[in-house]
Amino acid sequence: MGYARYEITRNGQTIEAGYNVPTTCEQPGCIEQIDRGLAHLCGEMPGGDEHGCGGYFCGDHLYFSSNPAASGSACRACNDRYDAQHPEEDEETSADAMVVTFS
Ligand SMILES: [Zn+2]
Ligand SMILES: [Zn+2]
Repeated sequence: MGYARYEITRNGQTIEAGYNVPTTCEQPGCIEQIDRGLAHLCGEMPGGDEHGCGGYFCGDHLYFSSNPAASGSACRACNDRYDAQHPEEDEETSADAMVVTFS
């Protein structure tokens, strides 16, 4: 409890957030009705953090974060940005790491 409605600062603006605050998916062109609960949040912290932009997205536009250190979800733009910044952490590298771990 206590997460139904609260105020956060995002991009210098104070906005209401929480799962009792209705909003529209922030993906341009999407009109899906959602709420500003943590389930729809890009990143881990309302307002944005190093893992996400703090935007709110519907289930079609929120993905598992590309960042293995992030426990939250991320939008496509943030995952793309992370992938661009970490080209060495592609799937091939991960597979090699697995082989080393289990040999
Ligand atoms: Zn994002
Ligand atoms: Zn959407």
